[in-house]
This record gives sequence, structure tokens and C-alpha cells, in this order.
Amino acid sequence: MLYYFVRDRENALRKLKQSEVQIRELMLTDPLTGVANRRHLDERMSMELERHTRHGQPLSVVMADIDWFKHVNDQHGHAMGDTVLEMFACHLAAGLRSTDFVARYGGEEFVLLLPNTEIESALQLAERLREEIQSLRLGKSGLVVTASFGVTEARPGEGMAHVLARADEAMYQSKSAGRNRVSVRMA
Ligand code: GH3
Ligand code: MG
Ligand code: MG
Repeated sequence: MLYYFVRDRENALRKLKQSEVQIRELMLTDPLTGVANRRHLDERMSMELERHTRHGQPLSVVMADIDWFKHVNDQHGHAMGDTVLEMFACHLAAGLRSTDFVARYGGEEFVLLLPNTEIESALQLAERLREEIQSLRLGKSGLVVTASFGVTEARPGEGMAHVLARADEAMYQSKSAGRNRVSVRMA
């Protein structure tokens, strides 16, 4: 009798643990693209900034925004817009190292965290991603999309909002210079 009681209790606890893991996963994942969401980015970025401040290893941050995305929705429909987002996110994630991190920051904006990466290497990575993305042919119609990138590096002790604002400024520099390019803002 006692045996069955203990076993049932253990099973119930195991199921509860599994549900907790699943709930946490759902809370931190963007449902459309499957990459990390903003909440997860906040968590990971504060951890990486702390680590960067403590150990002094470089931390580069890249902001990527799909160009003329509203036109994709307007001309090809929202479903195609969603497909483009999924493929874009998938492509960003596929090109990264296991210690790197990609999150959907907003509608068609993504952030990459690159720990232990100097800004020069981050620039090269962003440039490679930019070239790869423009050479993709998406969906049945072979749609071409491009993206604008902003690259920066964190300063020791700097807060998340500051670093993201600088990556955003760099990205907007790419937009105003004609899009489909990579710009850098030094810390
Ligand atoms: P820019 O080159 O200046 O970045 O222009 P843009 O059209 O990409 O930027 P804008 O901010 O004007 O438009 C972003 C669009 O992204 C508008 C919004 O409808 C669309 N969008 C945001 N989230 C989603 C989504 O989850 N799915 C789809 N299909 N569209 C989305
Ligand atoms: Mg855009
Ligand atoms: Mg945008």
C-alpha cells in the first residue's frame, strides 16, 4: 500500500517537473519562429552583460531588421510574411555558434548576442548573414528579401538598454544609407 502511494507521488512529481520545464520553454520562445523571445533575451542578455563585466571578455551585439517587410505583407499576404519571418529566423540561428544567442526582438527585428566575440568578427558574421539572406529565394515565387544590420560591443558595467539602443542606432544608419547593409557603432 505504502509502495503504491510513494510510486504515485513520485510519478506526480515527475510530471509536475516536466510541465514546469515545458511552461518555461513556452514562456521563453517566440511561437512563430521558434527562436527566443524578448523575455528570454532580457534574461540571457543581463547574464551575458554581467559575465562580460566580471571577466572582461568581449560581448558583441547585432540588431537585424528585414527591409521593406510591410511590402512583403502587402504584396504577398500575411501568410507569406510569416513564412519569411520563419525562414529569416531559421537562417540566423543556423549560422551561429552554440554559445551565441538569437532572439526575436520585435515584429521583424532580431537580436544576436555574441559572447567572446570582438566587434571585427561580429561585423564579418553580420556581413556573411546579409549576403546569405539576399541570395535566398523564398517560397514558390522565389521572393528575395534583404535585411539591415547594426553591430556594436558592450562596455563593462553598461546596462542592456544602452547597448541595445546603440545596436539600434547602427541598424538605422544602415536603413538611412539605403538598407541591405551592415553598420557599426563603437562603444
Ligand atoms: P524598413 O525597411 O524601414 O524596416 O521597412 P519595413 O516595412 O520593414 O518596416 P515597418 O516597421 O514599416 O513594417 C514592419 C511590418 O512588419 C509591419 C507589420 O505588419 C509587420 N509584422 C510585424 N510582425 C509580424 C508578424 O508576426 N507577421 C507578419 N506577417 N508581419 C508582421
Ligand atoms: Mg523592417
Ligand atoms: Mg522594424
